Amino acid sequence: MKYVDEYRDRDLARTVAAAIAAEADPDRSYHFMEFCGGHTHAIFRYGVQDLMPENVHFVHGPGCPVCVLPVARLDDAVELAERYGVILCTYGDMMRVPGTKQRSLIRAKADGADVRMVYSTADALRIARENPDRQVVFFAIGFETTTPPTAVALKAAEAEKLGNFSVFCNHVLTPSAISHILESPEVRDLGIVKIDGFLGPSHVSSVIGSQPYEFFAEEFQKPVVIAGFEPLDVMQSVLMLIRQVNDGRCEVENEYTRVVTEEGNVKAQTLVSEVFELRKSFDWRGLGTVPYSALRIRDRFAKFDAEKQFELSVKASREVKSCECPSILRGVKKPTDCKLFGTVCTPQSPVGSCMVSSEGACAAYWTYGRFRDQQPSKLEAAE
Ligand code: SF4
Repeated sequence: MKYVDEYRDRDLARTVAAAIAAEADPDRSYHFMEFCGGHTHAIFRYGVQDLMPENVHFVHGPGCPVCVLPVARLDDAVELAERYGVILCTYGDMMRVPGTKQRSLIRAKADGADVRMVYSTADALRIARENPDRQVVFFAIGFETTTPPTAVALKAAEAEKLGNFSVFCNHVLTPSAISHILESPEVRDLGIVKIDGFLGPSHVSSVIGSQPYEFFAEEFQKPVVIAGFEPLDVMQSVLMLIRQVNDGRCEVENEYTRVVTEEGNVKAQTLVSEVFELRKSFDWRGLGTVPYSALRIRDRFAKFDAEKQFELSVKASREVKSCECPSILRGVKKPTDCKLFGTVCTPQSPVGSCMVSSEGACAAYWTYGRFRDQQPSKLEAAE
């Protein structure tokens, strides 16, 4: 398949791996945070870690929109579906994320709430048109990649004067999250999380471009390489990061040139700024309250804003204490550090968001990595 197979080529991978091994300085270590869950899954699915020298480490970041949504916002969505009796439309992964007391949208649906999985905002609009006597709320989550389609839906609802459609907006912003991580005591003062550079987001960058990362490359002196989601993209980006570290450079480089430009998708950016504005702060799972890290719907679209149309009263949200998702999302721990991993918590019975999402680190470890450290003989015995 064009633009896929050539980025999974075995011989090319061996060539890049040899260059990485040759250029990685054996007298130092390299710790690169991959912000996106898509990178985490590529690393595990294709065994990229196994092709790295022992001194090149991946630190998993918070780049999974399902994982970073705080429990309180999920509880709000459950309340919308149960208390207000709306048709709640959401993307598939959100259905199974456990909220307070393990209450999820799919459990609410099993108990009679009208929760529907959609593939796009257009699906949610269609449901609103087909059900004029019901209120339809789209539970919008995601980074900059999924924000433009939500903006399109809000503009369409305004143009059509849809009186029964609204959006529960939870769109968050990548650069503020990266800055927040770099300013955290674990990175800046305590040195618990070592970060020598970033594998920058790919899909997000197709919208915002490479330019927004220049601030923290300069300010925090961390190199950034925007990387595609295929295994060769990740490996080539690691090589570019190693070269920057070795040269003492802290620049923004773009490996994903087939999609990402410096300025990004200006049309999408204009659309987003017409419909949304910055929130002063937003709570992220794992990162806590992050200033100016999320969007809210502008007043012009207030009648399509579920937060203004419904009184959301969930006050006492609680996470499962032994779930290590918050530490994993900050790069402080790995999924295998969680004592629930693979025992109580599996994709079939997830305890935390990182095990549910298709981009979650725990799901990646479970699906591709849980037998990595076992000897072949043990694996054979297990079969
Ligand atoms: Fe949370 Fe499950 Fe991951 Fe543990 S394994 S951190 S309980 S999602």
